[in-house]
Amino acid sequence: MGFLASKEDHPGELKSFASFREEMVERDIAARGVRDELVLGAMRKVPRELFLPKNLREFAYEDLPLPIAGGQTISQPYIVAFMAESLLLKGGEKILEIGAGSGYAAAVLSEIAAQVYTVERLGQLADKAAATLADLGYDNVRVLHGDGSRGWLEHAPYEAIVVAAGGPQVPESLKAQLKIGGRLVIPVGADQRVQELVRVTRVSENEYRSEDIADVRFVPLIGEEGWTIAKEGEARQVRAGRCGRFLRKRKRWSGTSPT
Ligand code: SAH
Repeated sequence: MGFLASKEDHPGELKSFASFREEMVERDIAARGVRDELVLGAMRKVPRELFLPKNLREFAYEDLPLPIAGGQTISQPYIVAFMAESLLLKGGEKILEIGAGSGYAAAVLSEIAAQVYTVERLGQLADKAAATLADLGYDNVRVLHGDGSRGWLEHAPYEAIVVAAGGPQVPESLKAQLKIGGRLVIPVGADQRVQELVRVTRVSENEYRSEDIADVRFVPLIGEEGWTIAKEGEARQVRAGRCGRFLRKRKRWSGTSPT
């Protein structure tokens, strides 16, 4: 277990990462409206500090997105919890994540699900995430290096799919890889920098219901069913460490649409 110097009034006193984690879950996640006990339990367990570069570990329990390799970011803990809650999990599911990044969100989901499949476009991050997850004993997570905008057909259908990068629209491949009754949560927006978090539920073979649930800011989903390239403004956003971030909650139905 790691320790950090306490920020409170006893200089020199050491406080464990575990107690900072416990405080963060109460202050930044439960107190801000995440109620799902499965999600809160998972957030209390996963050591976020071990998914971060060593020099950033002391910030692991600030509710912030932080830079990881490849100009990408580990998402803000609150948005990881909010997205996991939005998947309406009961436990024991097969989940697909697009955008493994550090592997942190996959670890959180794997505490709830039976099996997590996660796809990462950058080889360097895919390798590192797979190694971190294996070191920590997350043997129900599999990492694939590739374009996740097309999903991971081999293991489909999934009860839940979560995308940690924003696309211009909901990829048809991901909709098609949902089980009937399954939920897909994805940031979508015409702007590469700001998106609406959308939950798509597969109601029947050919019918999907779509809800906008929050305003968020994510790195772009780059791939065949995402953006072709990142725009210059996006690169600045990533450098500023402002992606994977929750902006505002909303509740609005955008109706049912056929395939
Ligand atoms: N879930 C991550 C945060 C991911 S940030 C965590 O907990 O750390 C979003 C990630 O999506 C980045 O690593 C980026 O490289 C990846 N990404 C972008 N487009 C992708 C695509 N088409 N397929 C797979 N990964 C993609």
